Amino acid sequence: MLLCLSCIASLVMSQNEFRVGALAASPGTIVSGRLEVRPAKGIDDGTFLPITIVHGSAPGPVLGLVAGVHGSEYVPILALQRLRSDLDPKKLSGTIVMVHVANIPAFLGRTVYVSPGDGKNLNRVFPGNPEGTLSERIAHTLTEQVILRSNYFMDLHAGDGNEGLSPAYTAYYAEAGTPRVIAESRRMAEAFGLDTIVAFKGKLEPQRAIWCGSTAVVRGVPAIDVESGQLGRAEPIYIKLIVTGILSVLRELDMLEGEPSPTKHPLVIQDRAYVKTQTEGIWHPNPQLDAGTYVVKDTVLGVVTDFFGNPIVEVRAPQSGLLLILIETPPVQQDETLAVIANVRPGPWEAN
Ligand SMILES: [Zn+2]
Repeated sequence: MLLCLSCIASLVMSQNEFRVGALAASPGTIVSGRLEVRPAKGIDDGTFLPITIVHGSAPGPVLGLVAGVHGSEYVPILALQRLRSDLDPKKLSGTIVMVHVANIPAFLGRTVYVSPGDGKNLNRVFPGNPEGTLSERIAHTLTEQVILRSNYFMDLHAGDGNEGLSPAYTAYYAEAGTPRVIAESRRMAEAFGLDTIVAFKGKLEPQRAIWCGSTAVVRGVPAIDVESGQLGRAEPIYIKLIVTGILSVLRELDMLEGEPSPTKHPLVIQDRAYVKTQTEGIWHPNPQLDAGTYVVKDTVLGVVTDFFGNPIVEVRAPQSGLLLILIETPPVQQDETLAVIANVRPGPWEAN
């Protein structure tokens, strides 16, 4: 069978298309649309993921970017909108798959931590289940359609609607995955450019990798988490940190021309203390403290009162360190985290 030249050209183009679900992007184009999460008959109507494929004119790696796993963390969601408008696919080598809002039920429902659909935390149900609840089916779709299609991956967060969080930081799994995945994940974390880097400890079996980023690394995909922004606010400075960081990683991976701007003075955090309370009630954080300040051991972080205002428990810092996260809104349930303190005392530092 003879094919005309234009037919051959279109066949070559179709081979170079990048498809995610029903969306297909030709080289040098940007395509946006819905990636469907199918309904569960008689239980829910399913949902969708708003995604963008930026398919570069030249070949290169695939970078997956996910925002909005927690629906009230707005900074990463707005950062991906900015990035979408800033990128020129004709200057890109490789492909970027953006998930603008991973958790539409939580975003539109304005919930913190969990989905209003099934009460589950999407970032605790990976890799998901195609026959599971709505959050589990979202996680399955993300794993199959985005994470496993990526050569590199970023899960973008902020302090949730109730969480003060400072400074912005990147995080990577320092002991999970192959040595190559660990080294490449660290390379991404450093290239992102934020000075504070959390190095998660511990190996992870695939069945225990219930977090979005961990699902990537145990499946051979280098990944980082990013935390930038806080308290349900859309502060431009935090949005800019994410856009700048992603562009720097794209340069580090030779997906964009130009020099990356990695951190020159990384503060690597290996241990964090989670401060919890056994009491439900109303949380009064110490008004003299903000996330990002250094606290010494026994500093009063706040007081939990009953619903009438009577003090129940005074919560103190169990160790000195950097106050990475401080809950700053009143509701508190039993066994919830009220603060996260990073151990930044000297040594044992890594040799390199
Ligand atoms: Zn989050």
